[in-house]
Amino acid sequence: MEVRGRFAPSPSGRMHLGNLLAALLAWLDVRSNRGKLVLRIEDLDTQRTSPKFAAQLMDDLRWLGLDWDEGGLEPDYMQSKRTAYYEEAFHVLEEKGLVYPCYCTRSQRMAASAPHRDDGAVVYSGRCFRLTAAEREALERSGRRPAWRVRCPDLKIALEDGNCGTYAENLAQDCGDFIVRRSDGVFAYQLAVVVDDALMGVNHVVRGRDLLCSAPRQAWLHRILGYEPPEFFHTPLLLAPDGRRLAKRDRDLDMGALRDRYRPEELVGLLAWYAGLLDEPQNARPDELIPRFTWAKVPKNDVVVGFS
Ligand code: GLU
Ligand code: ZN
Repeated sequence: MEVRGRFAPSPSGRMHLGNLLAALLAWLDVRSNRGKLVLRIEDLDTQRTSPKFAAQLMDDLRWLGLDWDEGGLEPDYMQSKRTAYYEEAFHVLEEKGLVYPCYCTRSQRMAASAPHRDDGAVVYSGRCFRLTAAEREALERSGRRPAWRVRCPDLKIALEDGNCGTYAENLAQDCGDFIVRRSDGVFAYQLAVVVDDALMGVNHVVRGRDLLCSAPRQAWLHRILGYEPPEFFHTPLLLAPDGRRLAKRDRDLDMGALRDRYRPEELVGLLAWYAGLLDEPQNARPDELIPRFTWAKVPKNDVVVGFS
């Protein structure tokens, strides 16, 4: 079967070093398999994203020497333009009786009684699942607009991550009923990403390890919606020397600053070294790395980068 991978950035700012590592590995995974790479623009949150950032991001990828076969700033590959597909999937979940409205405020959701996950997220208590019809009506009458959650079964989902190995979660206990549509009507990342990966024929999902904990619920949603889940490959996160994760707010390591300081082959070489593909940082073009690439070399844990 042809490998179809994707890179799915949220255009909410300039990419940083960590995003570049995920992009390079997604590209290498596809190119070393003679597959196809889709570039999907994850701009569901139109308040925080913009086509301007998306255009910048595409320019930055090209500057690095990373190309793609489909997608970019075309309506079919922009989540903000794909609402009709999410709507359809939402109806499937509704028909299966799996979604329910949640009227909780943020503070109710964060209520101290709820156990916290490793990633800092809260396992939702299922409070609104237990509302009576009369309670629901009263909340509706008071004008509260609900978010929509999908009911998670007491089911262990184990997946074999192509980089990190076995990862398992019990959906009800470790994940909890999660939001598939926000109270402002916008569909949530978890639903959109599953629908898009399925409809775009994506069978290899390569992305940062911060999303490993989303993989079980996504694999489950794929099955519920009648799709075959993709294979997942979660890539190491880059940490600053103080152990902090690099983020978009580290302006000194975003693409704007990096393009001033490095030539593309220097930056690609540095990333390849972090990825375990080179013994030392040395200039490299992405295509020169193809014969060196194998997941066996890529670190399973986060990588501390020696500069900030
Ligand atoms: N859009 C997400 C991000 O930029 C990535 C989603 C994914 O790869 O599943 O963080
Ligand atoms: Zn609730």
